[in-house]
Amino acid sequence: MDILISEDLDAPAIQELSRKFTVVRDATLWKDGAALKEKISTAGAIMVRNQTQLSADVLAAARRLVAIGRVGVGLDNIDVAAATKLGIVVIAPLNANAVSVAELSIGLMLALARKIPLADRTTKAGAWDREGCTGRELDGKTLAVCGFGRIGRLVALRARAFGMSVRTFDPFVPANAPALAEAGCELCEHLEEALGAGDLVSVHLPLTDQTRHLFNTRTVAAIKRGAYFINTSRGGVVDERVLLLALQSGHLAGAALDVREIEPPQTRSAFEDLDHVILTPHIGSFTTEAQTRTFEAVCEDLHRVLRGHPAENFVNLARPGR
Ligand code: NAD
Repeated sequence: MDILISEDLDAPAIQELSRKFTVVRDATLWKDGAALKEKISTAGAIMVRNQTQLSADVLAAARRLVAIGRVGVGLDNIDVAAATKLGIVVIAPLNANAVSVAELSIGLMLALARKIPLADRTTKAGAWDREGCTGRELDGKTLAVCGFGRIGRLVALRARAFGMSVRTFDPFVPANAPALAEAGCELCEHLEEALGAGDLVSVHLPLTDQTRHLFNTRTVAAIKRGAYFINTSRGGVVDERVLLLALQSGHLAGAALDVREIEPPQTRSAFEDLDHVILTPHIGSFTTEAQTRTFEAVCEDLHRVLRGHPAENFVNLARPGR
């Protein structure tokens, strides 16, 4: 087997790849750790989205593996350090879906501020409730962007076009970074400083040991009263119980969550009952354009590596070390 696909993935670029390599697809393999270990032991490469957990233990079983193709951006389901140690190339086209996620973030801000989902629901149910759908403008408001990476920057630029001021918190960005000036964005030294200033807070952080539950009792309390909270990054950066309390108590005016701590959620939560909460099923990168770009980039790189050429969208090694 040349390429194993362990999730429900399909695209013209995969069909193209199947003409040149043996591709085995098993849409539910990610659910069964033992079966995954067995199948990956004979694979030359694996293609995953974010459900397959490629831990050090699973990778140790992958004796022939030279490449991992990640259809997407977050690398929290892949032990990249273990892959590097084993000489496995990790491919992830990091820029391919940034615009789509940034556009969704802006869309969610507008949807929250103008109560678009509520207006849609009530109007379809026969009401004509203009007062109940009274919203707020983005113009003149301050946006706190948490994480000033690829997506955070694009969100900042777009928010400026709506007449917003933007503050950001990102300890890895130097104060003289040209991207800050380009986006007309003020860098805050402390997270709480950005949160206290933002009428809207938009989160664009990777999920790491440092960012897990970064939004907890202390930091959620630091968010300006009446602000909107938008998370299109990773559910795990937010303690959902704390966020829920802040929404129920009225500390926050609303929240939009594209990502959840557990996906898909296994049980109904109180979020579903709140009119000022918008929930979407992790669709940040689900546009025709982003999906096409991502699949093409991953498939082309798998083709390159399996033919002995260096990858272009690698995040660790350009060529396998085995
Ligand atoms: P990126 O790596 O370009 O940017 C992340 C930024 O966060 C970096 O600038 C980094 O310095 C900063 N950061 C890291 N740790 C931090 C900390 N403790 N405090 C503050 N800042 C910190 O990533 P990106 O491409 O902009 O993606 C951002 C997030 O969006 C990732 O979690 C990614 O998984 C997620 N994402 C979600 C979707 C979706 O479908 N909703 C799609 C793509 C990406």
